[in-house]
Amino acid sequence: MKNLEQLRQHFGARLQENIRMAGLTTSRVGGPAACVASCSSAAELAADVQYLWQHDIPLQVLGSGSNILVSDQGVDRVILQNKAKKFIFETLEDQPVVNAESGATLITIVREAAQKGYDDLVWASTIPGTLGGAVYGNAGAHGAEMSCNLVMAEILHREKGMLSMNAEQMQYAYRSSILKRSPGSAVILSAVLSLRPGDPQEIKAAIQANADKRRLTQPSGSSYGSTFKNPAGDSAGRLIEAAGLKGTRIGGVEISTLHANFMINDGTGCAQDYRNLMLMAQKAVFEKFGVKLELEIELIGKWQD
Ligand SMILES: Cc1cc2nc3c(=O)[nH]c(=O)nc-3n(C[C@H](O)[C@H](O)[C@H](O)COP(=O)(O)OP(=O)(O)OC[C@H]3O[C@@H](n4cnc5c(N)ncnc54)[C@H](O)[C@@H]3O)c2cc1C
Repeated sequence: MKNLEQLRQHFGARLQENIRMAGLTTSRVGGPAACVASCSSAAELAADVQYLWQHDIPLQVLGSGSNILVSDQGVDRVILQNKAKKFIFETLEDQPVVNAESGATLITIVREAAQKGYDDLVWASTIPGTLGGAVYGNAGAHGAEMSCNLVMAEILHREKGMLSMNAEQMQYAYRSSILKRSPGSAVILSAVLSLRPGDPQEIKAAIQANADKRRLTQPSGSSYGSTFKNPAGDSAGRLIEAAGLKGTRIGGVEISTLHANFMINDGTGCAQDYRNLMLMAQKAVFEKFGVKLELEIELIGKWQD
């Protein structure tokens, strides 16, 4: 990587070199990143991003790595691992909210909110990513999504500097936002989410019900969750299954026999196995049903298509 000496000086002991992305993503695949640096506060994340932008050094903010697929060749960008995890519960004009740094995981926020008797985020209890990843991609489940709860996100924008953006300004769409539609343009530092007082026992039961439903309908094992977005009025899993691909395997990755929109790595798979299965599923569904499946996850790096 260019500028390596300069990066060593800037990050000091926070810099790790030549790290396999397989260890930083939930699909457990992905080649090396020359430079990975962790940021333990929103202020540190902002300062690092400013520094890299000023020196024109490509970067990628990494949350839990649960919505990306990194190629086997790896990445030629500085990976900023977001470990800014602080959050507090407060009241904003009579509205209970959680104000969290973007590296906090949704699951931790939901669990603590439930303990305090706060409802309204139960939908997020099974999503294994960070708040930043969820605000960026409008994560959603069980009939709700980030756009329902986002009061305000603190954003560092490459051209416009520090901004506060509400859900309307984020121009949310299904698993999409204005930030996701212009990758690299901005970084989410923190966000305020609305809550609602509720009964702790009922909230706990609702979280358990979501977990039970997931266990019955979605496979465990290494993956990045759903591969494709659901086309309007249909489901990607149904289409892939109807194209006869449930259980199809390439290398160490298999289209789940439980839910065909999930691809599971048995521990021996590589990123190109995932990619080849995706291409196979897209081709089969298009040939059979004329539907173009669109990726929900993000591909990072170079691919042999
Ligand atoms: C088993 C499983 C189940 C899942 N179920 C669901 C589900 O029900 N619903 C759902 O919506 N998703 C689901 N997902 C996908 C994933 O968990 C979500 O999309 C999650 O919001 C991604 O967050 P992350 O921190 O892992 O993001 P990452 O994968 O680390 O990053 C994804 C993208 O967001 C960007 N990004 C991350 N943080 C920031 C930031 N602070 N500022 C700017 N950009 C940022 C990254 O650069 C990257 O482009 C599932 C995944 C798995 C593995």
